[in-house]
Amino acid sequence: MNALTRRAQPEPSRKATKGTERKTGAKCPICDKPVVREYRPFCSKRCADIDLGHWLGGRYVVPGERITGNEAETDE
Ligand SMILES: [Zn+2]
Repeated sequence: MNALTRRAQPEPSRKATKGTERKTGAKCPICDKPVVREYRPFCSKRCADIDLGHWLGGRYVVPGERITGNEAETDE
């Protein structure tokens, strides 16, 4: 099960993209809608829950169920 084991290799070159960050008009990382202050950095509780779900069940522990659909990796 370790086919995709990630080495702990730091990639400092990737961090050189800070210039593209905007100070205003932050967008929800889940659905790309404008962030709502109350729920930031998300646009709503729903998206906050989705993100939380990723942490709780998506990445670390997958109880025998695969999530299919729009789980496409969009590493930039
Ligand atoms: Zn959202």
